[in-house]
Amino acid sequence: MNADPQLFALEPTATPLPASERQARLVDPGFGRVFTDHMAVARWSDERGWHDARITARTTLTVDPASSVLHYAQEIFEGLKAYRQPDGSAALFRAEQNARRFNRSAQRLAMPELPEELFVESCRALVRADRDWIPESEGGALYLRPFMFASEVFLGVKPSSEYLYMVIASSVGNYFKGGAPAVSLWVSQEYTRAAPGGTGAAKCGGNYAASLLAQSEAIRHGCDQVVFLDAVERRWIEELGGMNVFFVFADGSVSTPPTSGTILAGITRDSILRLLRDEGVAVREEPYAFDQWRDDAQSGRLAESFACGTAAVVTPIGTVNSPEGSFTIGSGGAGPLTGRIKQRLTDIQFGRAPDPHGWRQPL
Ligand code: PMP
Repeated sequence: MNADPQLFALEPTATPLPASERQARLVDPGFGRVFTDHMAVARWSDERGWHDARITARTTLTVDPASSVLHYAQEIFEGLKAYRQPDGSAALFRAEQNARRFNRSAQRLAMPELPEELFVESCRALVRADRDWIPESEGGALYLRPFMFASEVFLGVKPSSEYLYMVIASSVGNYFKGGAPAVSLWVSQEYTRAAPGGTGAAKCGGNYAASLLAQSEAIRHGCDQVVFLDAVERRWIEELGGMNVFFVFADGSVSTPPTSGTILAGITRDSILRLLRDEGVAVREEPYAFDQWRDDAQSGRLAESFACGTAAVVTPIGTVNSPEGSFTIGSGGAGPLTGRIKQRLTDIQFGRAPDPHGWRQPL
């Protein structure tokens, strides 16, 4: 199958939500609960490869109880946003990077790769169909969720011979309720997220299933998010359940853990590294120990910390909590570099500033 855009031709829904109801849902959409009228679909089979690609009415699926995804969790996904531009048009942000990461995940989960152009075209075509669902509120966007799962009806443990690829879209506002001026973290000491040789660098559903108990523990301790340490020494900071993490030092330098196989290579992370280097900030991708984080926060050597990702954008970290005690980062709120980098990034995403690296992609 080549990347003819007609492959994701639109079969418009016969029952779009009336405009007044759509507008009502866009007032305060929160995150991941408001869905649009359409979805993208394509199928893969060992015999036919990719086929049957289209944009169609969003609807429920009929899944056979023996579909292999329900038993062996062969499933991967992505997350990216379409941003409203000042002239009313929409733009994607670095979608080809999501396409590449999707294929790295596919490879790790023994699934077929999807040609990059098809991934990007499925996102573009869906946003074209559902552009009116992009909220106009400050920070609002259309969150796209491409995903693929094993649909063969078979209970043998082996890679499926059939897959379904889909993209759904959700009108979103802030990921954290109230926009969260700063989040509190809980350090998981009992549970880890990913081990060397495992699937930590892939965006597969299983990683998230494995993180939920630790996240519940965080909530039980009154914290917003869990932060994971490495599985071998239980010493090095890796990432949050769905965000990468950065450290800002009093000497003006910045560090973030390296993507050495157990953390997800965030596209927001990569963009921030590039923007900081553009500014001449000294940036290191190096391991940082949890004990060092605490000592540096207490001595003042560390000035700020923030989490970042497509959904959470850039979110300051206020406090860090563990069974051994708590510490506060800086003043406990947003620091100056965190605020500046958030502004730089979102100005590019929302078309308010020049785009020096060609990251914005009009439809
Ligand atoms: N780590 C994890 C575990 C994530 O789920 C995400 C969100 N995709 C990120 C980091 C941040 O990645 P990105 O900036 O590409 O959204």
